[in-house]
Amino acid sequence: MPMTDDSLPVDKFSRAAELRTLLEKYQRAYYVDGRPLVSDLEYDRLFDELSLIEKENPSLRTPDSPTQRVGSDLTSDFPEVEHTIPVLSLDKAYSDSEVLNWISKTMKNTGENLSFVLEEKIDGFSVVLYYEKGVLSRAVTRGNGFVGNDVTANAKTIQTIPLRLSEPVDVAVRGEIYLGKEVFERINSTLEEPYANPRNLAAGTIRRNKSSETAQVPLSIFVYEGFWTQPNADITDHIQILSRLKALGFTVNPHLSYFCRTKEEASLRLAQAGLDGDAGSFDDIPQAIKDATARRGGLSYEIDGLVVKVNELSTREELGYTGHHPRWAIAYKFEAPQAQTTVESIDVQVGRTGRITPMARIKETPLSGSTIRNITLHNQDYIDQLELAVGDTVAISKRGDVIPAVESVVEKNELGNTTWRMPEKCPECGSVLVKRGAHHFCPNHDCPAQAKGRLAFFCAKSQMDIEGLGPKTTEFLYDKGFVKNVEDLYSFDFDSLVAYEGFGAEGKKVSIIKDGLAASKKAPFQRVLISLGVPEFGKKAAELVVKAGYDTMDKILALVDVPETDMEQSIQALSNIKGLGSVMARLIIEGFKDPSIRRTIECLREAGLRMEESSGGSGVGEEGPALEQIFAGQSWCVTGTFEHFAPRSKAMDEIKRRGGTEVSAVSRKTTCLLAGEGAGSKLEKARELGVRIVTEADFLEMLKEGGISDSVEHEAPAVSSVVQDSSSGQDIQPDLFG
Ligand code: NAD
Repeated sequence: MPMTDDSLPVDKFSRAAELRTLLEKYQRAYYVDGRPLVSDLEYDRLFDELSLIEKENPSLRTPDSPTQRVGSDLTSDFPEVEHTIPVLSLDKAYSDSEVLNWISKTMKNTGENLSFVLEEKIDGFSVVLYYEKGVLSRAVTRGNGFVGNDVTANAKTIQTIPLRLSEPVDVAVRGEIYLGKEVFERINSTLEEPYANPRNLAAGTIRRNKSSETAQVPLSIFVYEGFWTQPNADITDHIQILSRLKALGFTVNPHLSYFCRTKEEASLRLAQAGLDGDAGSFDDIPQAIKDATARRGGLSYEIDGLVVKVNELSTREELGYTGHHPRWAIAYKFEAPQAQTTVESIDVQVGRTGRITPMARIKETPLSGSTIRNITLHNQDYIDQLELAVGDTVAISKRGDVIPAVESVVEKNELGNTTWRMPEKCPECGSVLVKRGAHHFCPNHDCPAQAKGRLAFFCAKSQMDIEGLGPKTTEFLYDKGFVKNVEDLYSFDFDSLVAYEGFGAEGKKVSIIKDGLAASKKAPFQRVLISLGVPEFGKKAAELVVKAGYDTMDKILALVDVPETDMEQSIQALSNIKGLGSVMARLIIEGFKDPSIRRTIECLREAGLRMEESSGGSGVGEEGPALEQIFAGQSWCVTGTFEHFAPRSKAMDEIKRRGGTEVSAVSRKTTCLLAGEGAGSKLEKARELGVRIVTEADFLEMLKEGGISDSVEHEAPAVSSVVQDSSSGQDIQPDLFG
């Protein structure tokens, strides 16, 4: 690839310049002329592409880049006026999970007890209203964020913009001028050149040369921010701003939600502020986002998203602004950007269970902050629905802003390729594929792709967690013919690898692997069960089976090793386990009947892996003496990430081994919340309900000491939080831990 003098790839350099020019052109058409040249999705996609190039090549980020400032709606038709307040755009998210992450990150970064406001994002025209001594002095467009156009005469025709406030205050108010859907339809149908949407018509109307023309269109406004010129000690948060604006005579959108620690507190705040809207605790935010999204179609005006804002003004000040948006708010845009690309080829991947997954290899495409090259096509039915063929131009998106997906075929290929068909044979081993349900499978258990998948699965973190045996290493071992299956792992002479590159001059990696394998022999029985890779038999199912009394491998196998006529009885026995279900029961029986799984079980038994639950009967077994049941009778919830327990299920394993039970959500009945780094809503909930919060350091101490050690117990709570009752700051009474 050619490079510029400063070693930047030329194509990125010229693409960034091209994108800047394009975006500026589109901004002008959109903001100034009110007649966009491309869809918002296309605009957002190009904007994201430029952001990505600039992120990867910071020297390409010019100060005048559209990513660094708000899109300008300035026109020479109106005088320019300088803004005295920040008039910026908003940062964007395209999924509710992204918004929730932003909330927990903001809470974590500010380390404060924040509260949040959720508002509708009105799809209108942004304006700032400046009042002097309570009288409207200027209405100014957003402009370029620093300077806007003076559209006062036109704004004065809008009935919901008060010309005089109820108090003689100096205040600047941000709001969105909009046109109701019905009025838009009515007016637009009479126009020779109709507008694409109410927003464009509103934008065109507010910039009419004659205010008598503006007055003919019944525009409205919702206001959402206020900046008082004189310091106002009474106003410390957004709720107070909205309350004051309402009292001054402005229209505040009643569809707002306020969230703080408890619903009761939030309701009280809203009532005191005289605001309509919904109140909730932090746990209610996901549902509120869903509800607000669902309400969209029934509204009489257009919204293009929701806005979440930090409520506390002191924290807003602390978080500050970029040149483009405040850091204390985020817009959740309803539609994720899509991109168009070409499907260059489709091939299939063979999973460890033999499942065949078709993958589209596409022309490299930047989208929402990453570069997409491969997209899963799930199965033949999915492809048939799309009628997808190699060479087609397709619209792609990132669903939930994470998983890339083909949304539709935009243009069929000119090569004459018809809808892609699944190959008849496995590309890895040549076996004829079989179809089960919606998916195709390679039936050959010894297929190299399946064998490599099983090996990698067995050694992975969530299963036996064998250090040094990541997917690349297991693939190397397989390809060399050293380790062909899980059984070989425990008989292969790893010392023979020291001669191979990557295994360390002094065989360092070799000893890591050997230690990892030795440690796996002490792993709890439930992990061994899961690691066998019986299809669909995961952590939860294994736990239910063991808890129901099938706590040794032999007891499980006894269910399977029955005459065919008694098989239904075995399935019924498992189906009776609460929470397991008959489908899962049948899958388990079939899985354990599989001769290859049986071979693996016998080899693992011989290698010395655990084949039964520990005598402590604590749910997850381990070799060695029975552990003191210090958590007996307690229910624990685990949240966040931990230095010593990755994945965090390992922490839960420790709790269960000592008699504790797992709960997935915090309630009043929860005994303790083990909270790691980045703990979010569960931590808040625990605080709210007074559930005891345990830090990782304290937890380690408890495991070491078999409860609360004397030394820790007598320390002042401020020095060691041990196990604190968050509501009272008291340590848990030692008798709780036996
Ligand atoms: P934006 O529309 O994504 O969001 C920021 C704006 O939302 C604010 O400036 C404010 O005016 C408004 N807003 C509405 N309700 C609000 C509330 N309750 N609280 C706070 N603000 C609220 O950003 P933008 O910079 O105005 O416009 C960029 C967007 O416009 C792009 O993402 C794109 O969708 C669209 N656009 C399209 C084209 C095109 O050619 N199609 C061109 C330029 C911009």
